[in-house]
This record gives sequence, structure tokens and C-alpha cells, in this order.
Amino acid sequence: MTSDPLVERMRPFGTTIFTEMSALAVRTGSINLGQGFPDTDGPPEMLAAAGEALRGGANQYPPLPGIPALRAAITAHEQRFWGLTRDPDTEVVVTAGATEAVAAAMLALCEPGDEVVCFEPYYDSYAASITLAGAVRRPVTLRPGPGGRYEFDEGELRAAFGPRTRLVLLNSPHNPTGKVFTTAELTLIAELCQEFTAYAVTDEVYEHLVFTDAAEPHVPLAGLPGMRERTLRISSAGKTFSCTGWKVGWATGPAPLVSAVQRVKQFLTFVNASPLQPAVAVALGLPDGYFERFRADLQGRRDRLVSGLVEAGFEVLPSEGTYFVTADITPLGGTDGAEFCRALPARCGVVAVPTQVFYDNREAGRHLIRFAFCKREEVIDDAAQRLAKLSRPA
Ligand code: PMP
Ligand code: GLN
Repeated sequence: MTSDPLVERMRPFGTTIFTEMSALAVRTGSINLGQGFPDTDGPPEMLAAAGEALRGGANQYPPLPGIPALRAAITAHEQRFWGLTRDPDTEVVVTAGATEAVAAAMLALCEPGDEVVCFEPYYDSYAASITLAGAVRRPVTLRPGPGGRYEFDEGELRAAFGPRTRLVLLNSPHNPTGKVFTTAELTLIAELCQEFTAYAVTDEVYEHLVFTDAAEPHVPLAGLPGMRERTLRISSAGKTFSCTGWKVGWATGPAPLVSAVQRVKQFLTFVNASPLQPAVAVALGLPDGYFERFRADLQGRRDRLVSGLVEAGFEVLPSEGTYFVTADITPLGGTDGAEFCRALPARCGVVAVPTQVFYDNREAGRHLIRFAFCKREEVIDDAAQRLAKLSRPA
């Protein structure tokens, strides 16, 4: 017997960088700008509804696709913000966070050896879910272009598609770069999906976090011509309603795609979070003002952190959306983000995440690190003061 009982294909994955860095923050008493979770609660109406549901007996298995009120709220929300019309009975499935939706989608849609086109840096669960399914990832690298905005090369994207391409797994707004894909970029992806008869799976957990200075507002790929029938759209309550620990997510799309995901999901978790489902339904129905304030609030925090990072001597790359901003450590004499982040708590009591772990081509991200700004203003200010020590002679 080998000493590690883990199946071989999962051995390269180790412990996620988020777990490692959050543990480092706790161990060193540092400010955690690594893992992306807010340090304040979401809307009080949602929290009250969860308490009522808990006390009101909503504590047994909900229906497999999710409770009708939540499915209705998900479709009404998609219609209100993105103009997408869905049947709440056949075109929606509630999942244990976006993470389960991504995993179930890969397991449901990919045969072993099928290829999945994705963009790197990629959210870490993508690589693991693709591998669990026995599929092969075909990453296309995002690189800072003129002005620092992350871009991809059209030829590289085209070259990633081929006869074994099963689907493209796209995250926009994009973690960790903060990139929001433009309509022109999405159109290219849509054309290639159609040319190669591939599906698209889109992770839009940051759909409400696109800042006013982004090149364009958020555009769901599913809304582009020819894409509705081939796109599975994934989102989650965690980010939009500051409840990352609830793990209530969903997938929407044409009935055959949703049914495929649901048939796998039923054997992963079966169902999840009964008392939280009615609460998320309430949150999704909040007036437009909630979503507008949420965005404006996070944009203010982004600006606050970015000023601190610039002051500390980082080269900060533009973040158009999400909870995150990336920075180049080169001006501070850094060459390797992983080393830099491991040393940062001892140097100044702040934790960040190296983005090289989200690339196959690690060199492309070696000098880049990610900071989360979904934190209280006083926490951001404290972190900024600590980071200022980096550029001051000891
Ligand atoms: N996708 C992306 C791009 C993320 O940043 C995250 C982290 N929240 C997730 C998926 C996971 O979402 P959830 O917590 O709903 O599973
Ligand atoms: N999505 C969060 C981030 O990118 C972390 C989620 C996790 O810890 N797996 O920071």
C-alpha cells in the first residue's frame, strides 16, 4: 500500500491556498486580506427570515431542485437584472454554493478525456472539479495589457479549442484578477463555442460587483445570440448577500443542462440548507437600491485599499469588479508571490494570497498577489498602515 491513500489524480492539489493563508492569519494574528469573506453580516431582512424559518420548522429535506419560493426568486432576479427568462420548474436547481454547481456540472457534462477551456488564473475549485471528472483543462492565460487590464490573446483562445472541447468554464467578473469580460471578448468566446459545438458554464458569483469605472457593465454570456441553449449559468448568495458560510448557490439554463446537473447533484449532497433557502429568496427580492448600495460600498472599499497599496509601493492592477485587487510585487523587490505572502505576516501583520497557484503556467503569475477588500473600513485602514512599513527603511 502507498502511504497516501488519496487517488493519484487528486494528489497535486494539496490544501487550498485559502485554508493555508487563513490559518497563517490566525496563527500570526495578522489582518486577513487573503480569503474573500466579508467581516459584516448581510441584509437584516434575510437574517430575520432565516431565523423565522429555523424556528418555523423548515428543518427537513427541501425538494431536490430547491424550494419553489427560492426557484421563483432566482428566476425573477435573473429577469430583473439580466433579462433572462426561465421556467422556475425546469430551468433552475439550487446547490450547495457555486462550488457544488461547478463540480456537479463538470461531473455531469464531461466524459473522461474531454477538454475544458478556462482562463488562468482560475478559481482553484475549477482545476479540481475538472480533474475529478477525468477531464483535461485547457487554460488560456490572462496577462496585464496596456494600462494593466488583464487580457487574453485571441489566437491562444482559438488554439485552446479543438475536437475534444466539451465546454468553456468562464468566470466573469473574474476572481482573482477583478477583470470583467467585455461584450467583444464574450462574443469571441460565444462564436468559438458555437463553432466547436461546446457548452459554456459561467460562474457569475460576482454579478453585482462591477464598479462604475469598469470598461462595461456585466453581461451574462447566456444572453448573447446562440448561447442561451448551450449555457449553464451559476451564481450564489454568498457574495451578493455577505453570507459566504451559508453555501446557497444555483445553476440556471436550458432544462436538459439543468437536469444533467441535478441528476449528479442528488448524489453529491442530495439537497441543502432548508432554512436558508427561504431567506435567500427574500434577499433576491430586495429592491434595486440594496444591490446599488452594495456595489457602491465595495467600490469605496476597493478605492481605500488601492490607495493604501499604492502608498505602500505596490504596482496595483485595475480591478473592475469582485472582492479583489491584484498587485505586482516587483517594485518592492519581490520576485515570487508565494514567498512574499508567506513572509508578509512577519514583516507587517497582513495576509494576502499569491495568485501563481491559480495558473498552470505559474511563471505568468509569479510576481502577482491578491488582496481582498470586502472588509470594514477600519480594517482596511489598519492594513494600509501596516503595509506602509514595507517601503519604509527599518
Ligand atoms: N466561484 C468563484 C469565482 C468564487 O470566487 C467563489 C468563492 N466564493 C466561488 C465560486 C464559491 O462560491 P460558493 O461559496 O457559493 O460555493
Ligand atoms: N472565494 C473565496 C476567495 O477566492 C474563497 C473560498 C474558499 O476559501 N474556498 O477568496
